[in-house]
Amino acid sequence: MNLGLKKILSSLVKDPTKLVTIADAWITARNPTAEQKDMAEARWNVCIQCPEFRSKRDITGEPYCNDCGCPLNKKIFTKNYNECPLEKWKSVDDIFWQATQKKNKSLL
Ligand code: SF4
Repeated sequence: MNLGLKKILSSLVKDPTKLVTIADAWITARNPTAEQKDMAEARWNVCIQCPEFRSKRDITGEPYCNDCGCPLNKKIFTKNYNECPLEKWKSVDDIFWQATQKKNKSLL
């Protein structure tokens, strides 16, 4: 098992409620509102400049965060404010987050 997946599992053992956050981000990523998409794109632009950004996970090939281990193409859709483990999304979320809370297409 790669290090990123171990970090995710370790995080879930410490706080099982994160499973709901992860599932919600995955669902949102499949059908985001325009506001959620704008925020995700802005978060993505922060991530690709971050030293913790990794462009390709072994086996799955998805981009991921080396700090938390999360797949970034899903994590950027989380509805949680500034969920970045290094709090680098604050400036983006200060602009977009409030608008994403008004419409909620997610089932969770
Ligand atoms: S989530 Fe945060 S720490 Fe991880 S790659 Fe993105 S900006 Fe960097």
